[in-house]
Amino acid sequence: MKDVAYIALGSNLGQREVFLAQARRAIAALGKTRVLGQTDAEETAPIGPIAQGPYLNQMIAIETELSPQDLLAELKRIEADAGRVRTTRWGPRTLDLDIVLFENQAVHEPGLTVPHPELSNRDFWLRELAALRSSRVG
Ligand code: ATP
Ligand code: CA
Ligand code: CA
Repeated sequence: MKDVAYIALGSNLGQREVFLAQARRAIAALGKTRVLGQTDAEETAPIGPIAQGPYLNQMIAIETELSPQDLLAELKRIEADAGRVRTTRWGPRTLDLDIVLFENQAVHEPGLTVPHPELSNRDFWLRELAALRSSRVG
């Protein structure tokens, strides 16, 4: 089923701009998917109890025929390609790719919740989402 999805990109380790650019390219190259728009990257304070550097964040809107589960698998592959090492939750990382929302699908499974459960708590996500929705034509 064709749907519009929003992906949050984040990096707070190493060359953050480079990791975001690499992620944008990899997302654009996904099958059954095209990029509709992207926000400017913005810096935000880290979330959670672990001391770490600030994040560079960006959100991308895509139109995709991938299921949320298949999209998550692709995003995990792209994270791994960026050298992400899975240590602690909320810890520093080269690349973090979260599915924020699918316009017309919801998922509640042990490994995947869509909309992302933290959406309403993250002001910058809400702002980026609103910007992407308002800039979309049709
Ligand atoms: P947060 O999700 O609060 O931003 P995080 O991004 O640091 O924290 P991760 O360690 O990257 O958390 O992810 C933990 C797991 O969350 C992933 O392995 C994935 O299976 C699961 N997950 C559940 N819902 C989503 C979603 N909407 N997008 C991405 N991952 C999700
Ligand atoms: Ca995250
Ligand atoms: Ca994540």
